[in-house]
Amino acid sequence: MALHESEAIVLRTYPLREADLLVTLFTRVEGKVRGVARSAKKSKKRFGGALEPLTVVRAFYDVRERNELARLDACEVLDSPLSSEVSYLRAVALAHVGEVLDELLPDREANDAVFRLALAVLGHLRGREIWMPITYFQLWMTRLMGYLPDLSECIVCGRSLNGGRAFYHVLADGLMCVDDKRLASSELSSDSRMLATQMFRAPIDTFTGVTWPKELGADLRKLLMQILQRHIEKKLTTAAMLEKIDG
Ligand SMILES: [Zn+2]
Repeated sequence: MALHESEAIVLRTYPLREADLLVTLFTRVEGKVRGVARSAKKSKKRFGGALEPLTVVRAFYDVRERNELARLDACEVLDSPLSSEVSYLRAVALAHVGEVLDELLPDREANDAVFRLALAVLGHLRGREIWMPITYFQLWMTRLMGYLPDLSECIVCGRSLNGGRAFYHVLADGLMCVDDKRLASSELSSDSRMLATQMFRAPIDTFTGVTWPKELGADLRKLLMQILQRHIEKKLTTAAMLEKIDG
């Protein structure tokens, strides 16, 4: 057995047997790791609040075989989402980040770019403003997973879309020009295309301090959710919950 140590984000926990918890961690060192926290349900002392989803922790765990569950020995809280007020809005946003990471990341494959993205986004999910960090997260996540082609050109003919209209379809990654759009396509507004361009050029901090209603970038988020859900071949529960939130 080898003891591993890594900064990690707790993605999900499930009850396992009577007293144990099955924990999915996104570790910085080796990506997504599933492990068992023994007696975590019984002994609150041992893990405290460290296993609440989206807590950033330093995790210590043993791994025997590559494909086996790790044994989670200890977790130290580095940053807890519970340190600021958890409204329903914020709870759904946090759950969305957790679900997307859990569904998209492969097991045991480090991805430092995604890890840094997740930390930055969690840092901005503290107050009431959720749509900016959520949009930034979905956009970068889609790109970092390699699912997002260049949004400035038509994926069919390669023509530049700058200055023209752009359309997306549930069965295609990327955008199409007015001549190549399929039946039942939706238009992506030029505001949202500009927003995406800006978000690819600047860190998340650039976008704070602006009031961000739900409508802003809503079409972009719809496109991104369609792409992500098609690649994982399932619906994301939290995407539907976000849809239903007013304002
Ligand atoms: Zn075209």
